[in-house]
Amino acid sequence: MEAVHIGVIGGGIAGLSAAFELEKARAAGQPVEYTLYEARPRMGGSLASETVDGAVLELGPDSFLTEKPAAAELCRELGLDAELLPSNDAARRTWIVVGNRLVALPDGLMFLVPTKLVPTALTRLFSLRTKIRMGMELLHPPRASHADESVAALVERHYGVEAVDRLADPLLSGIYGGGAAELSARTVLPRLVEMEKKYGSLTRGMLTAHRKMRAAMKNSPKSASKTPNRGAAPIFTALRGGMQQLVDALAARLDPARVCLGVPVSAVERAGRAWRVHTGGAVREFDALIMASPAWAAGSLLSPVDAQLGEELSAIPYSSSITVNLVYDERKIGRLPDGFGFLVPVVEGRSLLACTFVHRKFLGRTPPGKAVFRAFLGGAKRESLLAESDQALVATVRREMAEILGAQTLSAEIEPEQVRVTRWRRAMAQYAVGHQERMERIAARVAALPDLRLAGNAYDGIGIPDCIRLGRQAARELVTAAVNLRSGISA
Ligand SMILES: Cc1cc2nc3c(=O)[nH]c(=O)nc-3n(C[C@H](O)[C@H](O)[C@H](O)COP(=O)(O)OP(=O)(O)OC[C@H]3O[C@@H](n4cnc5c(N)ncnc54)[C@H](O)[C@@H]3O)c2cc1C
Repeated sequence: MEAVHIGVIGGGIAGLSAAFELEKARAAGQPVEYTLYEARPRMGGSLASETVDGAVLELGPDSFLTEKPAAAELCRELGLDAELLPSNDAARRTWIVVGNRLVALPDGLMFLVPTKLVPTALTRLFSLRTKIRMGMELLHPPRASHADESVAALVERHYGVEAVDRLADPLLSGIYGGGAAELSARTVLPRLVEMEKKYGSLTRGMLTAHRKMRAAMKNSPKSASKTPNRGAAPIFTALRGGMQQLVDALAARLDPARVCLGVPVSAVERAGRAWRVHTGGAVREFDALIMASPAWAAGSLLSPVDAQLGEELSAIPYSSSITVNLVYDERKIGRLPDGFGFLVPVVEGRSLLACTFVHRKFLGRTPPGKAVFRAFLGGAKRESLLAESDQALVATVRREMAEILGAQTLSAEIEPEQVRVTRWRRAMAQYAVGHQERMERIAARVAALPDLRLAGNAYDGIGIPDCIRLGRQAARELVTAAVNLRSGISA
């Protein structure tokens, strides 16, 4: 039986996960073949880590959300169980920069929604006016319109502009690199949008949902045995050797003869029912394609095949970011505040968006006596920073960290022992207002090309677990279609 040949374009985590699934099917005797194209000389896309003097430095993402199972499942399947490292949640505390001060996020915040009266009343994060507004929010009526809106519009309507500036914006720019004013509420905070429809007040909706969940857990016959485990689940999971371990484990499972590294796809075209893939001077035909490159790259490749699809994909905005890892001799710095690090609201007018105290967030990845900081810069409003030299960026980070943490804690005069600056150009898709509608239009165009699948962070989740889920799902669907085709069942 002749195999169905599937081309995978893009070797980030989405494309690698797709290729892994295809390799498993091929090895199991299913009628599929695959070829993976990655433009850069290395696999992994945004996932990259380096071990320097015994310290694991994450140049891109440092972990994934434990709550979304696809990433840990894949790690276990790859034999990386023992490498999974929980975040040190006992020390979890997040600070927000206000002026040159660090203010702790108040207790009881759930998805940006304040649910505890006393911590909200006592926090220095909000003015009295905002606190009163937060209390009054319990009387908020449901919204009349069901049209999508920005996260900023949703949060401001309920809690006021200060909640946008000091809460929504910093929390979201740490995840999406974009601001609350641009991001789609329906895509980024679907739970809150549903709660508003049902309850009007988000606080009331969140408290009700929480109460129901607690009651369900209490009444569940298995709750007694399950609760301790559930309580122990860490918020984030990392890999002991860094995210690169996942990339390496996936790459090792692929057949090197089926992987083209450093080979950008320059064009794709339809040839009857087949896909023709151009790479430099070479052309190859495939029965199906998985586009796992960023949407802007997929858009320009697919434009000649379907101009409308190309346009929709190219219109998905992306932001760029920079990480700066700094390793210090712990004896040379003062006492850091508790917790994992701090977030910097855009309204503070700084270059820094966030800084993680890496040696606190994940234990055992930094040698004793060292402190590792991972600063995050850029985002949709600070693209110009990408053009600055490494030296200038490091100087900015050191100056701003000294201003925020205090010179007695981390003076800009103290030399870091190691520094790594990494630029991520157009790496983070932005789920802009209207994203769901755009996705529906894209899905309709893709459905008209049944041997095409899209995977990656532009569509249905920005994080690593979602990219893995979409990559594997795309591959599985095409394997099923291949099996049906070869056994004469029409898909
Ligand atoms: C700095 C940073 C921090 C992050 N932190 C976290 C975090 O802590 N937790 C989390 O879950 N997520 C995090 N993310 C998000 C997450 O890492 C990404 O969303 C995810 O890795 C994207 O994977 P992807 O495969 O969709 O795309 P990418 O990683 O962008 O991979 C796409 C690949 O396609 C290739 N390509 C492009 N064009 C072509 C072409 N024409 N031919 C062949 N190949 C092509 C590119 O070279 C690239 O390797 C972070 C992202 C960044 C940038």
